[in-house]
Amino acid sequence: MIPLRSEEEIASIRQADQIVADVLATLAEMMEPGRTTAELDQVAETMIRDAGGAPAFLGYRGFPATICISIDDEIVHGIPGARPIQDGSIVSVDVGVCWDGYFGDAALTVPCGAVDAERRRLMVTTDRALARGIAAACAGNYLVDISRAVEQTCVAEGFSVVRCFVGHGIGKRLHEEPQIPNFDTGNKGPLLRAGMVLAIEPMVNVGVPDVRVRDDGWTAVTADGRPSAHFEHSVVVREHAAEILSLTPRRRWGQDLG
Ligand code: MG
Repeated sequence: MIPLRSEEEIASIRQADQIVADVLATLAEMMEPGRTTAELDQVAETMIRDAGGAPAFLGYRGFPATICISIDDEIVHGIPGARPIQDGSIVSVDVGVCWDGYFGDAALTVPCGAVDAERRRLMVTTDRALARGIAAACAGNYLVDISRAVEQTCVAEGFSVVRCFVGHGIGKRLHEEPQIPNFDTGNKGPLLRAGMVLAIEPMVNVGVPDVRVRDDGWTAVTADGRPSAHFEHSVVVREHAAEILSLTPRRRWGQDLG
């Protein structure tokens, strides 16, 4: 069963997501060559705790940090550390927050310095795929309408969607039912109903969709070494359109793409 959240519960999830969005906005502003991923992680943890939340990823299945930070061919689940971010990289940042027992989760990919045209097109396409997926997340549609909208947007640009990681329901836990594939599985999935809260998160590759996990046990990278991008919002399904919970005046739609 996919829970339908009350307005009171949605308010708590929104609060968690507003913290997430502010952290993402801050990290996007800080993205410049030479910064280390550990430095960004520390800023994120401090902001989350100062806002009264708790980092949702820290300790989740043993994950050792507050944010996941994944550069270029890294898709998701990269671990912050001492390495400096290079000019021309694209950097995916994923943030999760628990606030008052409810979870928020969002991600974006930002350019560090001057990035090439292919990376820029990948970021723009992934962001647009997320927007189209969210546009399909209204009551009366089926889950597959989200998946199809995402997939078609990416395939039209010649990119591939990652199949082994998916979006998810979210609320009282970080990952709840349903799973939200970024491709058409051939199964229409559940009917979308007002009050469902979903984290929609296309992960899109320039080259093949295949994934390899590095020896650290976490970092998922593209099998062909070509770049990948990741955008995510948490949304609540409403009657006529989804409401995006992980936007703030500081984190507006598409502002970080340059
Ligand atoms: Mg997520």
